[in-house]
Amino acid sequence: QKEEWRKLKDAETVTKDGKHVELAANIGTPKDLTGVNENGAEAIGLYRTEFLYMDSEQFPTEEEQFIAYKTVLEGMNGKAVVVRTMDIGGDKELPYLQLPEEMNPFLGYRAIRICLAEPEMFRTQLRALLRASVYGKLRIMFPMIATLNEFRAAKQMLEEEKEKLVAEGQSVSDDIEVGIMIEIPAAAVLAHQFAKEVDFFSVGTNDLIQYTMAADRMNEQVSYLYQPYNPAILTLLKHVIDSAHAEGKWVGMCGEMAGDQTAVPLLLGLGLDEFSMSASSILKTRSLLAKLDSTEMEALAGKAINECSTVEEVIELVAELTNSL
Ligand code: PEP
Ligand code: MG
Repeated sequence: QKEEWRKLKDAETVTKDGKHVELAANIGTPKDLTGVNENGAEAIGLYRTEFLYMDSEQFPTEEEQFIAYKTVLEGMNGKAVVVRTMDIGGDKELPYLQLPEEMNPFLGYRAIRICLAEPEMFRTQLRALLRASVYGKLRIMFPMIATLNEFRAAKQMLEEEKEKLVAEGQSVSDDIEVGIMIEIPAAAVLAHQFAKEVDFFSVGTNDLIQYTMAADRMNEQVSYLYQPYNPAILTLLKHVIDSAHAEGKWVGMCGEMAGDQTAVPLLLGLGLDEFSMSASSILKTRSLLAKLDSTEMEALAGKAINECSTVEEVIELVAELTNSL
């Protein structure tokens, strides 16, 4: 089987009926590029920049960040790179940033919430990204967006930094897509409004599932409620994808669910455009997609949403299909 997957390294990702979807990789540092290229990723769908902060004794400087982003963009030779702005908080701590003790860190001061409150820190990252943008195909993504106002505020800071750089004579790409993670249920519910203002969505199912099911993603005792195939999650995903497509925008997924072999047929059926996962899952997913017919998967996803009321029913539905492949 591994041999069969290897052959797909340089192949395009197409379904049995010839529909193209993008298979991308998640990375944490520029060092991960080796695995990305070895496994034939078509893009980077999530670069988690917080590791740059976590692996450092103090805030990484604009120059240090610029070098990291440039390295990744150049390493991808013109393939798209979605860089997510810093997502500290929740379970990720920074010794040099004194965060308050919180009752519920995952519901607290985290990611874009910190960035908007600490504009100096955020603007440094934005400037580094803008300067790196001329070295490849950069897409910028904001994490943990709950409201349109947060997106607008972050986007405005980005525009302001761009204007400043241009005024200083620095070159900045004028082709940078700006999107958000859909990982808070409120943003998923209002996807039709967000879709008018963003260039793309990427669904962060690790958080979206925990927030939708009110089940901590780290807590073993409630892990039975952490249900990617719950019809409630699928219904939310359908709304997000349909809303984006209605505005001509694309939707990716960079949570673990994107590389989950039971979820892939459903996600294809829901119309997901980009699947981003750990590099080691790419080839097996490309192989699976090549066996799936997108029209049949659309019917499968429709059935899962309209006829299933439990996660067990959804799993059985998908199993019936995959057993016959
Ligand atoms: C997610 O929430 O699905 C995601 C990709 O972000 P992280 O796992 O870094 O929170
Ligand atoms: Mg997340």
